[in-house]
Amino acid sequence: MVDKIESFVGGKTVEPLDGVYGVKLDPRTAGELEKVAYSGSADVNLAIDDADAAFDVWREMRPSDRGRLLIEFGRLIRANEDRLGATESRETGKPMHEMPALIALIAQFFEFYGGIVNVDNGDVINVGPDYHVYTRRDPFGVVGVILPWNAPLHQAARAIAPAMAVGNTVVAKPSEHTPASLVELARLAIEAGIPAGVLNVIVGRGSEIGPAMVEHPKMRKVSLTGSVRVGQELGRLAADKILPLTLELGGKSANIVFADSDIDAAAKGSVQAFTWNSGQWCCAGTRLLVEDSIHDEFVEKFVKAVAELRVGPEADATSGPITTRVQFDKIQEYFRIAESQGLTCAIGGKVATGDHLGTGWYIEPTVYTGVKNHDRLAREEIFGPVVVIIPFRDEADAIRIANDSDFGLGAGIWSRDIGRVHRVAARLDAGRIVVNEYSGGFVQTPCGGSKYSGYGREQGIDALSHYTQTKSVIIKL
Ligand code: NAD
Repeated sequence: MVDKIESFVGGKTVEPLDGVYGVKLDPRTAGELEKVAYSGSADVNLAIDDADAAFDVWREMRPSDRGRLLIEFGRLIRANEDRLGATESRETGKPMHEMPALIALIAQFFEFYGGIVNVDNGDVINVGPDYHVYTRRDPFGVVGVILPWNAPLHQAARAIAPAMAVGNTVVAKPSEHTPASLVELARLAIEAGIPAGVLNVIVGRGSEIGPAMVEHPKMRKVSLTGSVRVGQELGRLAADKILPLTLELGGKSANIVFADSDIDAAAKGSVQAFTWNSGQWCCAGTRLLVEDSIHDEFVEKFVKAVAELRVGPEADATSGPITTRVQFDKIQEYFRIAESQGLTCAIGGKVATGDHLGTGWYIEPTVYTGVKNHDRLAREEIFGPVVVIIPFRDEADAIRIANDSDFGLGAGIWSRDIGRVHRVAARLDAGRIVVNEYSGGFVQTPCGGSKYSGYGREQGIDALSHYTQTKSVIIKL
């Protein structure tokens, strides 16, 4: 029997009021995987009412008590690694071997914010002996969290954990392509002792649910992780009610390889930078900038390493399929654009086929060389395992090319010159810069972008300031 994935509101599973369901396809086979509730605005209203009803109890709880519940939540996430990992892998197509590390990271978000909430204080401000002035950091109330399909639990945990830690209640909307793991997560929250209504998950299509969430009078803050287009749509709606947003949007991140780097390490790390999660990664290093003097040597090593990747449905594959049919088609459209513009394809450039791949949505990891930074493939987010290699002359040229982008999300620097590393990091327009590896990312480090990549920060202590509002209390003595 096919599973039905439904919303989880007020501590229980609820059917959509209109009784409408859609079909979610399996990225590994293109066959039907499950039915997904297509909730409507009436369902959203009920979820927001439940979250609002839970707010007073949750905010009044001592931070240490909220923190203890979040840490227990983290423990249960670890204890349920197999189940959560299997669900996440089933819907996204991610290889199973990645799941233990991923689920441990999800747990860490709740452990980190469960601990740090105890030091999330305001300040005492000295304005003279006749006043006592202090600030408080108060929660907003009901916070909406709208999520993409590329890393469902990770994106959810990094927004939900800080929002809940500081006393907000949450209505989360997973992508209609990958809702099941977040629904399971919300069930575990109840098991951890978190009161019903604090974490609600509403399952359905963004075009209906997103606007209903933003426009609801009790919705006080929304965090979106998603595309620029949806960020712009939400921004327009939010402007009407001066609703604060955190926008974590797309990227076209520059990964810069200098001649003084460890070239073998740079070649290996740069492969992972654009192929991890089949390139469905907001910070993916998809503009690979390589210094002229090592260009040919580097490209040879890089392409050789790409050729060794194993794409497939197997648990130990280096990467799995593309998660949605629309995305699978979009990547192929970029192959056609590259061909029509005469780009040189060093490897890949087509759908991956083979007996073990069947009818799944697999793409060959693809490298284009000699690309100009103004070419479409260098400017637009593809969100697949496709990288363009752009040569550069010197440090200033590298910075210029890297910053010549509509986006400002991630960046990588490969160099053994510590002075250069700091100089370049200071000048790059990017919210997250990783040096001498690419994939590093920690619960403690803020993540977010500039320009079309969005604003606000998730992760780290910074996130707390995006889920609270500072209040000054000025007392005349
Ligand atoms: P998307 O913008 O299509 O969808 C994101 C979410 O918004 C989904 O839940 C969707 O249902 C919802 N949505 C759709 N239309 C809406 C509307 N009109 N109003 C409100 N919500 C609406 O993005 P996607 O295809 O799911 O995800 C891929 C995108 O996410 C990429 O651009 C990627 O770069 C970005 N992303 C960014 C980060 C980051 O940290 N900056 C992380 C992961 C993914």
